Amino acid sequence: MVQKGILVVVSGFAGAGKGTIMKQLVSEYDNYALSVSATSRNPRPGEVDGVNYFFKSREEFEEMIKNDELIEHAEYVGNYYGTPKAFVEKQLQEGKNVILEIEIQGAMQIKKKFPEALLVFIMPPSAAELKRRLVGRGTETPEVIDMRMKRAIQESEGIENYDFIVVNDVVEDCTKRLNGMIEASRYTPSRQADFINEVRAGLREI
Ligand code: 5GP
Repeated sequence: MVQKGILVVVSGFAGAGKGTIMKQLVSEYDNYALSVSATSRNPRPGEVDGVNYFFKSREEFEEMIKNDELIEHAEYVGNYYGTPKAFVEKQLQEGKNVILEIEIQGAMQIKKKFPEALLVFIMPPSAAELKRRLVGRGTETPEVIDMRMKRAIQESEGIENYDFIVVNDVVEDCTKRLNGMIEASRYTPSRQADFINEVRAGLREI
């Protein structure tokens, strides 16, 4: 049976807890690899080049696009973001499930290019809870919280394009559910086409 890794796209509202869940997933299970994106935005305090992102100038980023080094890219609030191709291909070949934590425009490009990819949208348990978490962080001004809530309204329009939603209630439970979805998705007929054809061919020969 084919045991290539699964390409998993994870999107979700700011404040939905995507980052926490991804960290938990990677530390709990050893068959996951987190893709590190390239971006033209400036590093935030504490962000490390090559760990959080590969930080590039706009020119360097455009060069990467020209050289076909990215499997998807998008512009988001004035900056480029994109997924380097080489890492993703290598990890998938080695049987790792590769996680791309990207926004919806990139997610739609991946869906088109890799129909076998799994698209997951992380949601808060409720709108009130999302607001509570954004306010609770204490790092954002009321204006920024307002902008992020408006952005969430826009992003929520695209949720039907995803395969699964994961409700982030309790991080540990949520991580288990997400891993279960990813493992289950391995066994759809379209993802096991080679195996099915092999058995079919075998049946004809008996
Ligand atoms: P931030 O600037 O807050 O780190 O990221 C802004 C948005 O860009 C987030 O929604 C994040 O998921 C998304 N993003 C990060 N990397 C990529 C990428 O490689 N491609 C795309 N399309 N979006 C990305």
